[in-house]
Amino acid sequence: MRTCPVCDKKTFVEVQDITLDIDGYIFILRGHRCESCKEEFPFEGETDRAIITARKLGVWPEPMKLYRHLSRSGGGLVLRVPSDLEKQLHLDESTQISISKMGNKIILEPVSG
Ligand SMILES: [Zn+2]
Repeated sequence: MRTCPVCDKKTFVEVQDITLDIDGYIFILRGHRCESCKEEFPFEGETDRAIITARKLGVWPEPMKLYRHLSRSGGGLVLRVPSDLEKQLHLDESTQISISKMGNKIILEPVSG
């Protein structure tokens, strides 16, 4: 059994219900989920399959997952938004963002208007 790279525990279970939301299209992937930290690891190939399908649908021309480190400023944590996302979503410093927690994920949504 592999060790979870996030929490170092050996509590992977095989699941078939990892959901990936790409621009409103929900993809269901097979993979492992860590029972301890709930991190999900789609099987190799599963993510690629979703990306290829998404590209056919024309919904995801960019790499799907971006990795960024948080920085600390004024006592709080700051997430820097990649510039390509800034352009695509027409964000600027006046954009209001709603933050929701879904399981162990953080969903950031620009609030229009
Ligand atoms: Zn874990």
